Amino acid sequence: MNARPAANLDSAQVVGHFINGADVADDNRLQPVTNPATGQVTRQVAMASRSTVEQAIAAAEAAFPAWRNTPPLKRARVMFRFKQLLEEHAEEIAEAITDEHGKVLDDAMGEFQRGVEVVEYACGIPELLKGEYTRNVGPDIDSWSDHQPLGVVAGITPFNFPAMVPMWMYPMAIACGNTFVLKPSEKDPSAPMICARLLKEAGLPDGVFNLVNGDKEAVDTLLTDSRIKAVSFVGSTPVAEYIYSTGTSHGKRVQALGGAKNHAIVMPDADIDNAVSALMGAAYGSCGERCMAISVAVCVGDDTADQVVSQFKERVAAMNVGNGRDTGNDMGPLVTEAHHEKVRSYVDLGVEEGADLVIDGRDLVVEGHQNGFFLGPCLFDRVTRDMRIYQEEIFGPVLCLVRAESEEEAMGLIDEHEYGNGTCIFTRDGEAARYFADNIKAGMVGINIPLPVPVAFHSFGGWKRSLFGDLYAYGPDSVRFYTLRKTITQRWPSGGVREQARFTFPSYQ
Ligand code: NAD
Repeated sequence: MNARPAANLDSAQVVGHFINGADVADDNRLQPVTNPATGQVTRQVAMASRSTVEQAIAAAEAAFPAWRNTPPLKRARVMFRFKQLLEEHAEEIAEAITDEHGKVLDDAMGEFQRGVEVVEYACGIPELLKGEYTRNVGPDIDSWSDHQPLGVVAGITPFNFPAMVPMWMYPMAIACGNTFVLKPSEKDPSAPMICARLLKEAGLPDGVFNLVNGDKEAVDTLLTDSRIKAVSFVGSTPVAEYIYSTGTSHGKRVQALGGAKNHAIVMPDADIDNAVSALMGAAYGSCGERCMAISVAVCVGDDTADQVVSQFKERVAAMNVGNGRDTGNDMGPLVTEAHHEKVRSYVDLGVEEGADLVIDGRDLVVEGHQNGFFLGPCLFDRVTRDMRIYQEEIFGPVLCLVRAESEEEAMGLIDEHEYGNGTCIFTRDGEAARYFADNIKAGMVGINIPLPVPVAFHSFGGWKRSLFGDLYAYGPDSVRFYTLRKTITQRWPSGGVREQARFTFPSYQ
């Protein structure tokens, strides 16, 4: 499949920055990147200094005037070529994701594909940017509304979707005529760097897309530099809140998507077999490191809960956990040793808090991968709302089961939770499903769908402390986020009429 020369970074021990179409080193501060399946350090990533980030912003600012004036159809053609190149390099990108994030290869390919779908949406930019026009809003007066790009915009992204989440941002931002600075996660930097090189190969002018690796120093530079007009962020809630408050106080438009604790309700009338299949994938896929992962199953009725627990026990025993590169594995390792420790300590905490650990993945050993960051699937039964394992985002393969007596009680749990990203209900009762969809306090709702991630031509976003800002990611909202509206009203008098000064507010009477 990968017939083209690889765009990958095999020969590069250090992943640096990509500024103005070229590699930039800035190796003063390096951080190791590990393969979580083996625990081995595979390369280093450079942490950009303030001056390197400023260099990227300057390149983006210099590229803006010409790119802003490039016809949308030409911008779309770059996106078409980029999509083609992405597909030619699909395996290479998926392998980079697996080697640094740990998720199994099929899952990496799935993430990649969902990112490509946003590029496909961006290919339609001439249609999406078409404004509104009204002839004769008054005598000899026409009016139209236009979407104009903002200027230099920035994206700051998390580790868990190193290819897809950046693609939620830069294809639409660039297609709208902006120039871009991406600060991806330092934990798995290779996939976004491969994509940066493919954008150049697709014909994107130098400086339109720039990538800086780094940490808080790089992020703070982006948040405070007056040349950055907007910031898109995806990551944990405390950082999202910081990004939102700092960015907006520096006069920027900000959308900051945060963490989650997604609940699934299992009603007594649900198809339990299928609900358990769906829950297993949603709880343990990508080792639970998804913002749309189901981390709480609320079973209505003890009988429902008992059936779900017994099926989980049986089916988890048949799951394959191992290196994401090996076919046949369902789940890989957690991303880093530190994250592994954190998730494991939550499992210990749940036991201390009195939840019933009916599936304990702590003792899992993956043969030949003793240094990998593996944790087996865990299931807690009889979790209650006062427990920290219920309240906090764990971001690992840990599912909490809460027992409720009615749909109302189950919905109350979701409504009162601080997060409101995704949720779903398993039922055969259309009335219950409709009531749930209409009233539940969450941004993305599934009916017998465990991961209701909106497709590229809708928009993605949560409620409550899962999103700071007003506009969602990708889809139609991204045109609104990455552009300024301008409404032009023009008059070309039919001739000969002498104008008198008018001191009343202009109205058409
Ligand atoms: P994170 O918040 O630790 O990091 C996200 C980005 O912010 C990274 O680029 C990181 O370098 C930077 N960063 C981290 N700490 C910072 C600080 N103190 N100041 C400035 N920048 C900082 O998130 P993560 O661990 O990489 O990703 C997992 C989190 O992302 C989870 O909470 C998950 O729910 C969330 N997430 C949310 C969505 C969504 O759409 N709502 C999607 C994916 C992931």
